[in-house]
Amino acid sequence: MRRVSSWGRLGAAPHDVIELRERSLVPQALKGRGPGIAFGMGRSYGDACLNPDGVLWQTSGLDRFIAFDAAAGRLTCEAGVLLRDIQRLAVPRGWTLPVIPGTQLVTVGGAIANDLHGKNHHATGTFGDHVMRLTLQRTDGETIACGPDRQRDWFAATVGGLGLTGLIVEAEVQLQPTAGPWLDTEIVPYAGLDAFFTLSEAAHPDWEHAVSWIDCTATDLRGLFLRARSASDQSRPLPRRRPLTLPLTPPVSLVNGLTLRPLNAAYYALNRRKTGQRIVHQEAFLYPLDGVLEWNRLYGSRGFFQYQSVVPTANARAATAEMLTAIARSGEGSVLAVLKTFGGRPPPGLLSFVQPGVTLALDFQNRPAVAALFDRLDAIVREAGGRIYPAKDARMPAAMFAASYPGLDSFTRFRDPGMSSAMSRRLMGK
Ligand SMILES: Cc1cc2nc3c(=O)[nH]c(=O)nc-3n(C[C@H](O)[C@H](O)[C@H](O)COP(=O)(O)OP(=O)(O)OC[C@H]3O[C@@H](n4cnc5c(N)ncnc54)[C@H](O)[C@@H]3O)c2cc1C
Repeated sequence: MRRVSSWGRLGAAPHDVIELRERSLVPQALKGRGPGIAFGMGRSYGDACLNPDGVLWQTSGLDRFIAFDAAAGRLTCEAGVLLRDIQRLAVPRGWTLPVIPGTQLVTVGGAIANDLHGKNHHATGTFGDHVMRLTLQRTDGETIACGPDRQRDWFAATVGGLGLTGLIVEAEVQLQPTAGPWLDTEIVPYAGLDAFFTLSEAAHPDWEHAVSWIDCTATDLRGLFLRARSASDQSRPLPRRRPLTLPLTPPVSLVNGLTLRPLNAAYYALNRRKTGQRIVHQEAFLYPLDGVLEWNRLYGSRGFFQYQSVVPTANARAATAEMLTAIARSGEGSVLAVLKTFGGRPPPGLLSFVQPGVTLALDFQNRPAVAALFDRLDAIVREAGGRIYPAKDARMPAAMFAASYPGLDSFTRFRDPGMSSAMSRRLMGK
């Protein structure tokens, strides 16, 4: 047994960790061993990848590339391959993953099981939109090959399926052509939600990437709108980026009632100075947090929650305003507060999180006072017809999950009885 936690570090319960290394041995490693759940890099914030006192199938050893068609941009790889490693292979050859989240340090299996989105959702959809085929291993020994054009029902259940339909062993992904890793970027400071909506609308489709940082402590919203697209000048020397590591876990959260305002003010002031256009390497723009390893320890030994919601376009303005007011009044929140508009493309999974509308994501230190704020935010999201992102969640009520994911009933029949996580038991009762 080994103690394992997810990115939010809300606890570290013992798990029976089974490391998968050979894909030919996966069927026997699964059969009769569960119930358990797949664990990629544990970059989910809550309990989607945890199964306290039970089995975890760790997939990071399934890290081989299987085939790469450099003319067509088709890559087949094992499910434990990191998105970072795909980018290192593909970008110098003129291809890129079409969808990458705010960190590259996630596995292909995790990217499919949570049907990830990036800062470019309005342009490229979700990760599952680019998966052409995947191989699913069930705990009863059955192997299922599925994709958008074969066994489509299994594909729809597995994309965004939280690891509950079986273990993804390998996948084929269609990459997108790229001129190179450099991006033309622009930072635009703004004040007020109306300005955010105007900037978002203007950014689509001219800018492939568009996202906003907001100061969650300000009752009168202020933010920085960040947008980027491939640079025409790709001739620059590659930067040497050596990530720093947070050296220790502070006993208490460094983001707290005393530091929250000054930290947000400092972040705003620092980045406001970068207003305007510049050419930036994609790693610095798309996943700046990967520059500080284990930054999640900032929140101290009790860990932290992330609350990420999406509310549909029609109600987005009012609901977002209400949520931001509730957060600013509560005195809780983080320096990493993000607001983004999703595009209109419907996602491919029965339980995919994305829907057309506006998503708000914030971290909160783990202390009793946040429970009342979460209840308030839940009420606003429910009322607006929105939902919470399971990849970031550790506490949403089961009733809210059932009401906001209409695909749940159809999903249930695809579940593998040998797959179970702390999240599945919390949200689906088993
Ligand atoms: C700094 C940071 C930024 C992030 N930004 C974004 C973002 O911009 N957009 C976004 O969508 N998400 C974002 N995330 C969330 C993250 O991308 C997801 O939680 C992702 O699924 C984590 O992948 P993982 O490999 O660590 O999987 P894990 O967290 O280990 O597991 C995630 C889920 O996938 C399942 N799973 C993993 N491997 C397999 C497999 N082989 N077969 C079947 N199921 C499997 C697990 O059972 C679990 O349910 C961010 C996370 C962090 C830490």
